[in-house]
Amino acid sequence: MSGAEARPRARPAIFDIDPYVPGQSAAPGAANIFKLSANETPLGPSPRAREAFRAFADRLQNYPDGAATALREALGAKHGVDPARIVCGTGSDDILHLLAAAYIGPGGEGIFTEHGFSVYKIAILAAGGVPIVAAEKNLTADTDCILAKVGPRTKIVFLANPNNPTGTYLPIAEVKRLAQNLPADVLLVLDAAYAEYVNRPDYSSGLELVSARENVVVTRTFSKIYGLAGIRLGWCYAPPDVCDAINRIRGPFNTNGAAIAAGVAALDDTGHLGKAFAHNETWLPWLTQEISALGIKLTPSVCNFLLLHFDGGPQARAADRFLLDRGLILRAVGAYGLPHCLRLTVGTGEANRLVAAALKDFVKLEGPARA
Ligand SMILES: *Cc1c(COP(=O)(O)O)cnc(C)c1O
Repeated sequence: MSGAEARPRARPAIFDIDPYVPGQSAAPGAANIFKLSANETPLGPSPRAREAFRAFADRLQNYPDGAATALREALGAKHGVDPARIVCGTGSDDILHLLAAAYIGPGGEGIFTEHGFSVYKIAILAAGGVPIVAAEKNLTADTDCILAKVGPRTKIVFLANPNNPTGTYLPIAEVKRLAQNLPADVLLVLDAAYAEYVNRPDYSSGLELVSARENVVVTRTFSKIYGLAGIRLGWCYAPPDVCDAINRIRGPFNTNGAAIAAGVAALDDTGHLGKAFAHNETWLPWLTQEISALGIKLTPSVCNFLLLHFDGGPQARAADRFLLDRGLILRAVGAYGLPHCLRLTVGTGEANRLVAAALKDFVKLEGPARA
């Protein structure tokens, strides 16, 4: 091989991956900025978690407990599950990648839904697998569409429940039907990043399915309602075989000490969790009502965000710019096949009022109210 051309080359499949693009976080020129693009909680984390994080500053030289024992035990106690079946990680993204790496393999297929969370495709491709997209109905995952995509090479089904960026969910009865109808050797990964926000009697994150079956995993995160996205902390509840597999390949200290300390403290503060839930219960319906009244279509959401529908991509981009000029940062979701939509995170009361007012002005500017 000629010297000029010889250099390390990543596997070709790596270049099929479109890097994850986070929501924008700057609004140049705006005096006050409200970041409503990453589904972060406007309440921030529990004060106890902040305190635990600060206290950790005196122990930075020590390796953390690689098994995150204190955190797994606190999670087990809180959720009534076996700590031995919990694996923690650097955000739930870490867990999703570990599952793909352990179960997909070259040529293996991973299924996710049409507007599903974009990390699944990245994790499948990174693992050498083939991403398979299942259609949705009404921007909602559909059990039969997913089952129709299952074949002899299917290794994993990733289902965000509820899903980001649509905010829709499958009732637990449907999830159960999905689990029961998948071949026994296909892993069903239920990504329940927003579980704490959901207030529907027919919803469950599916922890009870994990206890009952060999092929279901639930992933959870501290990034959303717990307000700890910055320290990267997630976990999964999984069958013993799955825990064993991903424990073999994870970074030995993939859950850092500050995250363990802050996570344990956050779990202890049920009052703060209640406040964050109540805030969303107040403002999600308020925003839904105010924005719908302007003639802007919304997908009904059970999460801490809303999907706004505009009349095509150009109008969505115009709305995005209009709001950005006022310091209101929303999330463009063209990469999710929704170029005519914007995703809005429920913010502080102040931010929510400003968004409603800005959209009102935008609609006025755009002419007569739309159907
Ligand atoms: C935010 C989010 C996550 C959480 O990712 P972390 O790595 O835990 O921060 C996982 N899944 C979905 C669908 C999300 O929206």
